[in-house]
Amino acid sequence: MAGEHRGLVLVAEDERPIADLLGMYLRREGFGVEVALTGPDALAAARRLQPVALVLDVGLPGMDGTEVCRTLRAEGDGVPILFCTARDDEVDRVLGLELGADDYITKPFSPREVVARVKAVLRRVDGSLDETDRPLVLGDVELSRARHRVTVRGEPVELTATEFDLLAHLMARPGRVVTRDQLLSAVWGYAAAGGTRTVDVHVAQVRAKLGDASPIRTVRGVGYSADAG
Ligand code: CA
Repeated sequence: MAGEHRGLVLVAEDERPIADLLGMYLRREGFGVEVALTGPDALAAARRLQPVALVLDVGLPGMDGTEVCRTLRAEGDGVPILFCTARDDEVDRVLGLELGADDYITKPFSPREVVARVKAVLRRVDGSLDETDRPLVLGDVELSRARHRVTVRGEPVELTATEFDLLAHLMARPGRVVTRDQLLSAVWGYAAAGGTRTVDVHVAQVRAKLGDASPIRTVRGVGYSADAG
């Protein structure tokens, strides 16, 4: 789909050639990509950028991948994590510690396989990459991702690709508060400097087009959520 963004994936991998290769394959599939080369950098980037998924090497300098995962989970961060392991004993550690990893893959792997696993993990998490047509309905607003179509009481409403992605992201998580940073990452695929203003502008445009049927609610000081009303 033209103009589709699948969100930002953080690749934490200290072997530069592997990180670059994964980045190339993920970008080709429409993901934004940020690379972290050490454990502490991975943790900081995950907190700052709120990626939609994390590809996490276990053997990272500074802080082990399992420790990065444990820290994020302790902070309540449920970001889907795909672990990359180099040895069998690392697999045992990942599985044995019950870290809340979503999947793991053993090196050497093909970048194609990593991309497939990332997509599978995201599909399991919230169906946001679901390509079957399951329309999202909130109040009078119906949104079909497969048809890229939004209607209010049956009447089609013209949205730009970005406005559509923004509304779809919120409507796929009814009642859940989504921060501006999360929206930037999910819809625009990057965290722009001072970019949260962009989110506000686009939300205003969506509201103007949907009128009183708009399901988007402002959660002051936090972000937005979509509710039936
Ligand atoms: Ca490594």
